[in-house]
Amino acid sequence: MTDDAPPPSVDALARSIADVALPHPLLVAAAREAVAAGDPGSARARAERRARGLLRPVVNATGVLLHTNLGRAALGHSQEPGAWNLELDLETGARGSRRSHAAALVALAAGAEDALVVNNGAGAVLLALSVVAGGLPVLVSRGELVEIGGGFRVPDVCAVSGALMVEVGTTNRTRRTDYERALAAHPGAGAILKVHPSNFRVQGFTESVAVSELAPLGPPVVCDLGSGLLDERTPWLDGPPPSWLAGEPAARQTLSAGAALVTFSGDKLLGGPQAGVIAGRADLVAACARHPLARALRPGGLVLAALQATLLSYLRRDGQAIPFWRMATAPEAAVEARAEAVAGALGRAGVRADAVRCTAVAGGGSVPGLGIPSAGVAVDGDHRASLRRHDPPVMARMEAGRTLCDLRSVDPSLDQVLVEAVGAAVAGGKR
Ligand SMILES: *Cc1c(COP(=O)(O)O)cnc(C)c1O
Repeated sequence: MTDDAPPPSVDALARSIADVALPHPLLVAAAREAVAAGDPGSARARAERRARGLLRPVVNATGVLLHTNLGRAALGHSQEPGAWNLELDLETGARGSRRSHAAALVALAAGAEDALVVNNGAGAVLLALSVVAGGLPVLVSRGELVEIGGGFRVPDVCAVSGALMVEVGTTNRTRRTDYERALAAHPGAGAILKVHPSNFRVQGFTESVAVSELAPLGPPVVCDLGSGLLDERTPWLDGPPPSWLAGEPAARQTLSAGAALVTFSGDKLLGGPQAGVIAGRADLVAACARHPLARALRPGGLVLAALQATLLSYLRRDGQAIPFWRMATAPEAAVEARAEAVAGALGRAGVRADAVRCTAVAGGGSVPGLGIPSAGVAVDGDHRASLRRHDPPVMARMEAGRTLCDLRSVDPSLDQVLVEAVGAAVAGGKR
């Protein structure tokens, strides 16, 4: 390995910044870049930037509970190191199935015959469509040919799955007779696909067809729900379903309305890790599990353990153990009291900060347009860049020209971190 040993000057420079917590090859890379840029003095800053760029916990004070850039739902699970019974039946000692824990719990919690877990929602739709409609026509309303974001467009997913998309109805109105006419023209259709337009609303002169009306038409109805709301009655919460959930379709009700399969993400309203779920008819789920794509899309033990923890909380009806639901349903008065306390602590430290009311959102492309009353701490000026450089980094938002830290998306155990971060950012701004 003497070939790529750094020249002595670069090596010495790398050793001079050895206190930056990075493995030596990354310090050498920073030193090499600094020398190449003709600015050896920048090696430390380059190494520190590299260290900050690694995956790390951050404080989400944006008020967007499911923030796509922050990994959507906050993780509520930490993993013990070591080996796991991922595919081992501990009773018999024989090979088990990685579907016997998290997937079985999802099925139970959603009222499905069976379920399969894959890496994300897009993978769930791709696999489900490949199995039920690969090589066959699949009917989709023109009002549901949506783009969910970065790379997920319904026509493209249909094409990749091998399903032959048949457009039905119009952008704003699709009726049952439209589906019937399409079925008459394509009697061998493999499925009817229904996609929840998660991240926008069409208003006005609109019409779509309920799952209960589509189910009797013949082909299995596959519903891409997106958000992963398990049950519209939210039995894991103490009170009634929150008003901001209005209209969000849930897995249990969609299946009992006659859907053959539903697909959804693990890290949206389900509040778990990044994953995708296919739930519904046992024969179709089994066919999904047998498809070669299932192997390519299967998650590992880290994800399945986190999802299992999330589902056990649902089955205990303990929504408070799921960070997303705990944050989303914290009483307004409790969030306001925290905002007062943080603003007060900042004031005592000589920082002018105001506790303000604001509006948080679920985010993650779910329940668009519906806010959750919240409270936060506002300071004059734009301090977002210095807050991002804090350890741990704090993500805030701008509102009315001020920096706002929304406390609904922050775990209360991090309020003191927020006081320190905002205090340091404002003090740094004055220097
Ligand atoms: C979010 C979403 C997807 C994609 O799920 P990922 O987990 O991001 O892969 C697909 N369909 C709908 C309706 C969605 O809302």
